[in-house]
Amino acid sequence: MKSTQDYKDLEKKYYMQVVNRMPPVLVTGKGTVVTDTEGKDYLDFTAGWAVLNLGHSHDFVTNAIRDQAGKIIQMSNLFYTTPQLSLAKTIVDNSDVDRVFFCNSGAEANEGASKLARKWGKKKLNGAFEIITTLNSFHGRTQAMMAATGQPHYQANWKPLMPGFVNVEYNNLKQIEDAYNDNTCAVLIEPVQGEGGVNVPDTDYLRSVQEFCKSKNILFMLDEVQTGMGRLGTLFGYQRFQGVEPDVMTLAKALGSGAPLGAFCSKEFCSVLEPGDHGSTFGGNALTTASGAAAAEFMVDNNIPELALETGKYMMESLSQLMSKYQIITEVRGMGLLIGMEMNKDISGDIVSKSLEQGLLINAVRPNMIRFMPPLNVSKQEVDVALNIIDSILKDF
Ligand SMILES: *Cc1c(COP(=O)(O)O)cnc(C)c1O
Repeated sequence: MKSTQDYKDLEKKYYMQVVNRMPPVLVTGKGTVVTDTEGKDYLDFTAGWAVLNLGHSHDFVTNAIRDQAGKIIQMSNLFYTTPQLSLAKTIVDNSDVDRVFFCNSGAEANEGASKLARKWGKKKLNGAFEIITTLNSFHGRTQAMMAATGQPHYQANWKPLMPGFVNVEYNNLKQIEDAYNDNTCAVLIEPVQGEGGVNVPDTDYLRSVQEFCKSKNILFMLDEVQTGMGRLGTLFGYQRFQGVEPDVMTLAKALGSGAPLGAFCSKEFCSVLEPGDHGSTFGGNALTTASGAAAAEFMVDNNIPELALETGKYMMESLSQLMSKYQIITEVRGMGLLIGMEMNKDISGDIVSKSLEQGLLINAVRPNMIRFMPPLNVSKQEVDVALNIIDSILKDF
């Protein structure tokens, strides 16, 4: 049997060194708990990066994957397969979009949405191709999505960037109005910025951007890769904002409940892609969509988004209590179970490693900010355990 160190040596030798990994080598997970090669348990408040909204190895999802693996896993999209249709229907039935295309990741979903937007520009706006996105956004790591992602550190090594993306301030309608020109075909924004530091916009921001888009006949596109599938307390994040209905919406992360699955979805009026315009070998694969269909069905039938709303409130209240106890915490913000804790010092790296020692996995989304994104069915008791760990660590700062 290999030791923890053996695995680390293998990684060092054979894997591309693109990330500084955390120390544990994780082998199993159930619910909110993951276990490493040494048998140590951790409470997982990263949930596979906001992916495991039903927790690790959820029985309903695992059984669906197992069943599907025994039937058919993959056909090309030249043929009809069934799980993708069931998931597409669940998405459409529970949202304001009309059509869905499945792909394999968030970046790919946004690429697809951008292609759709450019086709819209070609057909309706004399070839307009530019997409307005926001600073501190995150849309993925492909060549085009690095240009869409308004964060210099993701862009610096890959200049010149792909043309056709303009980054403006988030939560600022005026900057979108000013950036708009005859070449603009769409706006792409997150309902709440995730990687950018859990930034919640003013209540009327999204709706006013939507109205502006409508007035110019450009597409209002929401990147729901992180906020979708219950994370904010409604099945889709935009449903927390009154009067908001995207023309185009992208999904990934929690969509496949751990199976790599993304989607871009659109309203009928702007569903401009035609046969031959787009495709994907694996996109909509029977195995990944069976996982996604089971997860979505379970989520809807068991009101999981509502649970996220309730537990999110509980967690925000507990964090506010911590904030009144420790001056080092300057703000607690978020929606549903996407929550950030901001501090007046760059200590989030230290907090993450100390938490790890005490058996809690969290994410340092900024040098001065911790992000919590536990499974949506995390128990209040588990929230208490996690925040007691944070409490005991903050005592030392
Ligand atoms: C994670 C994320 C992406 C990228 O998803 P990948 O599956 O890593 O390509 C895009 N947009 C948002 C909002 C995300 O949080």
